[in-house]
Amino acid sequence: MPLTNVQARDVQSLLHPYTQLHKLVDTGPLVLEHGKGVFIYDTQGKEYLEGMSGLWCAGLGFGDEELIEAAREQLSRLPYYHLFGGKGMEPAIELAERLKDIAPMPVSKVFYTSSGSEANDTQIKLAWYYNNARGKPQKKKIISRVKAYHGVTVMAASLTGLPGNHRDFDLPVAGVLHTDCPHHYRFGEAGESEAEFVERIAGNLEALIEREGADTIAAFIAEPVMGAGGVIVPPQGYYPRIVEILKANDILFIDDEVINGFGRTGNWWGCQTMGFTPDTISCAKQLTSAYVPLGAVLLPEEMYQAFVEQSRKIGTFGHGFTYGGHPLGCAVGAKALDIYKSRDIVGRVRGLAPQFAARIGRLADHPLVGDVRCSGLVGGVELVADKASRRSFDLTQGVGLACAKACEAEGLILRAIGDTIAICPPMVISAEELDMLFDRLETALDTTEAHVR
Ligand code: PLP
Repeated sequence: MPLTNVQARDVQSLLHPYTQLHKLVDTGPLVLEHGKGVFIYDTQGKEYLEGMSGLWCAGLGFGDEELIEAAREQLSRLPYYHLFGGKGMEPAIELAERLKDIAPMPVSKVFYTSSGSEANDTQIKLAWYYNNARGKPQKKKIISRVKAYHGVTVMAASLTGLPGNHRDFDLPVAGVLHTDCPHHYRFGEAGESEAEFVERIAGNLEALIEREGADTIAAFIAEPVMGAGGVIVPPQGYYPRIVEILKANDILFIDDEVINGFGRTGNWWGCQTMGFTPDTISCAKQLTSAYVPLGAVLLPEEMYQAFVEQSRKIGTFGHGFTYGGHPLGCAVGAKALDIYKSRDIVGRVRGLAPQFAARIGRLADHPLVGDVRCSGLVGGVELVADKASRRSFDLTQGVGLACAKACEAEGLILRAIGDTIAICPPMVISAEELDMLFDRLETALDTTEAHVR
C-alpha cells in the first residue's frame, strides 16, 4: 500500500525509537490521533483497544478530564520552575509527601527526574556517591540481571540485560555485572523444581559476589516483575533469598518500580506483591499515568545523611536535571495519586486479576503458545515453535511481530518482545473490555498460527 501523506512526512523526518528502520520506510508508521478511555484512534478513524497502556504507562487510560484539568491549572499558575540552589515549589513538595506516604519502606527524600532511565542513572551515581561518602571508595560495581530492562541512557542501558541494547552501542560500560534471570520456564534445567532453581541461581549470585569481592559491589538492581525482558514473574522464594544474600554483603537493593509501581501488580508496589523490602526505589511511567514525563528516586535517611555530610565537606551536591521536579509533572503526578486512591485502582486491579489470569491461562492450550505468565494486570504470552521441547522460533522469522500485526488488524495494540506478546492494559479497563482484549488476541493467535505452520 502506498504511504499516506502523514506517513510519508513521518518517514521523511523522524528517527523512530525501537523500530526496524529498514522496514518502516516501506510500511510507514501507524499514526495515532486521539484517545479516550482504553481506546485510541488512528488518522483513518480506526479504533484500537490499547492493550499496552502505551508503553506500560498510561494506567488511567486516555482523555482523563481530572488529569487534564490539573495540568491546565498548573500551567496557568507556574508553568516552570526548578529546585536548584535551594528553590522550591508546592507541587514538588506535595508529590514528595504523598510518595513518602505510600512508599513500602521508610523514605526520607525524593529526587525527581524526567524518565525511568534518568532515575536509574541517578540511582547508580547516588550509590557511588554514598559509598565515597561513607569511606568505601572501592565498593562501586553494580549487579543487574540477564533480560533486565532499566532504560537506555549509557548507564541504564548497561544495566539492561538485553543484547539489542548493547550490540554496536559499545555497552555495557565497565563495572556492570549480569546475574541469572529468574525465569524457570526458560532457564530451569530439565526436571529442576522452582525451589531448586531458586537455590541454584541464588548460589550463582553468591559465587559472583565472592569472586568479585563484596567490598567492590555497591548495589543490585531489579524490577520485581520483569517487564520489557518478556514479562517474567520470578518464582516464590526468589526475592527473600536474594535480599538475604545482599544484606549479608552490604549491597544496596535498588528496586526498579518503573512498570510495577502504582497498582500494576495488585499492590501499590511490585515489591509488596513479590514480598521484599528494598533500600531505594525508582519510579516513573504510571507516576503521572504518562500524561507528563516524570520520574522519581526514593531514598532512605542513611543515604541522605551521608550526602549532607559530604556536602559539608565538599560543598554543593552536584547532580540535578533542568526539569527535575517540573511543576507540571508534579501537579499531574499528585492528581494521579489522588485518583489511584479515590477510584481504588489497586482494588480494581485485584478485582480484575482473576479474570486476567483465567483468560491468559486459557491461551496456554493454543498450539503456538509455550508459556503464559501474569501478575495483576500485566502478562506475557510466549510463542514457541514446539510446545513439548519449548523450542523457540528463529527470531528472524518475526513470529512475535507478525502476531502483534495480526492484533492490530483486529483492533488491538499489544507489543511483541521477541516472541513474547506483552499485555498491560490501562488499569481502568472494564471486565467487558478485558474480555474484548483477549477475544481479539485469540483471533490474532489463530491468524498467526495459520501463517507460520
Ligand atoms: N525501568 C523499567 C523497568 C522500564 O520498563 C523502563 C522503560 O520501559 C525504564 C526503566 C526506562 O524508562 P524511560 O523509558 O522512561 O527512560
